[in-house]
Amino acid sequence: MLIILKENITKAHVDQLCQDLAKLGVNPQAIAGEGSTIIVLLGDTSQLEPERLGLLPGVERVIQVRERYKLADRRSHPQDTLVELVDVVIGGSQLVIGAGPCSVESKEQLNTTAQGVKAAGARLLRGGAFKPRTSPYSFQGLERDGLRYLKEVAAENGLPVISEITDITYLDDFLVCVDVIQVGARSMQNFELLKELGKTDKPILLKRGFANTLAELLMSAEYILKGGNSQVILCERGIRTFETATRNTLDISAIPVLKRLTHLPVFVDPSHAGGSAWLVEPLSLAAVAAGADGLLIEVHHNPPAALSDGAQSLTPAQFADLFAKLRAVAAAVGRSL
Ligand code: PEP
Ligand code: MN
Repeated sequence: MLIILKENITKAHVDQLCQDLAKLGVNPQAIAGEGSTIIVLLGDTSQLEPERLGLLPGVERVIQVRERYKLADRRSHPQDTLVELVDVVIGGSQLVIGAGPCSVESKEQLNTTAQGVKAAGARLLRGGAFKPRTSPYSFQGLERDGLRYLKEVAAENGLPVISEITDITYLDDFLVCVDVIQVGARSMQNFELLKELGKTDKPILLKRGFANTLAELLMSAEYILKGGNSQVILCERGIRTFETATRNTLDISAIPVLKRLTHLPVFVDPSHAGGSAWLVEPLSLAAVAAGADGLLIEVHHNPPAALSDGAQSLTPAQFADLFAKLRAVAAAVGRSL
């Protein structure tokens, strides 16, 4: 961190500032130039608030050199993090495609979709049991019964499962029933939830909030990592822009930017980004071409009858078609499926 001091500040003032800064556990080195002085703060500055340092007498401005998400930062961990499930590794050369219904609606519905997506090549089954719906009158999910069906269908089909947690009071059920806990876009900055998830060793898929920057996404990941849980997957799922032709705008550039900034694997959810089934294919192909480590796709055996997000759900047959095209794009960028 660099502290730029106001012009013509006295040497005594600089010495006093350095003494005060040293008490914060860092090593301040003052460099006096022509009329202006800067103080370089060496050591671990992640605990320091630049805004507060900016209020110290004589300080002109503060420049943060290292990001505050030191655990998520690729500079502190150059090699890619691998998130390991039984028989599935996320973040390696083989892409992981997760698929399944937006909501678990019944055990039969989940099972039918699980068989379809597994036959096409999916290696992770998705299904929401606690649904964060905009309207309280919309289907809210089967809740604990939904989690139980996920566990049973996972065991019967040999597919790991992912489901979204909406409140920390359900954590014990999630720990028992799912292989990956999803933190939805609406919960990305529920910091108390993130802190509790950081204390577990369950893989967490953290979705980007639709109005959040990538730096904010990485700070949220940092909450989980700081608690001791290194198994974090990031997920770009579209952000809100002025465009109304799509449900959200898939931020394709988020993929290479995140891959550069962090060692954590990056998934893309093309279903919630586009909001229409016909957009899932082009967005999926683009995401894989841009370096995504995996996709999360909504699939329903009968989309018109889906209790949530039918318009953006593929049928198992459409999903199988997409899979064949994904294989070709993955191969073109040196990945396999
Ligand atoms: C979901 O995956 O069903 C979901 C609600 O996603 P998001 O949090 O991205 O809106
Ligand atoms: Mn959905």
